[in-house]
Amino acid sequence: MGPGPKPVHIGTVTETLAIKVLDKNDRLAARNRSYLKDHRILALNLMSSPGSGKTTLLERTLVELGSKVAVLEGDQATSRDAERIAATGTKVVQINTGKGCHLEADMVWHGLESLGPEPGSVLFIENVGNLVCPALFDLGEAAKVVLFSVTEGEDKPQKYPHMFGAADLILLTKTDLTPHLDFDLALARRNLAQVAPGVPIVEVSTKNGAGLGDWYGWVRQRQQDLGGDK
Ligand code: MG
Ligand code: ZN
Repeated sequence: MGPGPKPVHIGTVTETLAIKVLDKNDRLAARNRSYLKDHRILALNLMSSPGSGKTTLLERTLVELGSKVAVLEGDQATSRDAERIAATGTKVVQINTGKGCHLEADMVWHGLESLGPEPGSVLFIENVGNLVCPALFDLGEAAKVVLFSVTEGEDKPQKYPHMFGAADLILLTKTDLTPHLDFDLALARRNLAQVAPGVPIVEVSTKNGAGLGDWYGWVRQRQQDLGGDK
């Protein structure tokens, strides 16, 4: 975990257990990664707090990207998001984590078994809405995409530095709402630059379509880099 904050209420036993859990997860994530690579599948792990617009962004993105796409939906309960994704005609499997608050590599492995994504496709993994532990659990994805909506505070990156620091791409979402809010985009960008230096930031709105072309372009570029189709 690197030089993180000093544990306050965590004893040595709990810490050791946590390290074991993460070690096991890393091994299973490596298995996912090699399966995905063998099948030229670009897996993107979408993370954010609840309500930042992950599912809505996916609905638009899946229609835009067309046929070779598949989705794993992570939520504690319900299959509501999977139903929304299925309505776009996309193959989707819902993973319910119950009391768990993040997806783990073995859940993704079993999800892949029932999903059976096509070789050369893009697999979107919508993680459980949570800015804490999903950052620690490698799923075998090619990249982590973190959403940050303008309805949240500009200081979110400072409060959850591990999540934002782990991102390969940051999407500032719901930008159409900024005229109605006090959200300071420039300040948010400065805060992001502190905890995630050099990580590209794209401002998007699924309402008016702003920035979506840049997001699709980023996905297509990643797919080309991987030697996938399109
Ligand atoms: Mg969702
Ligand atoms: Zn968790």
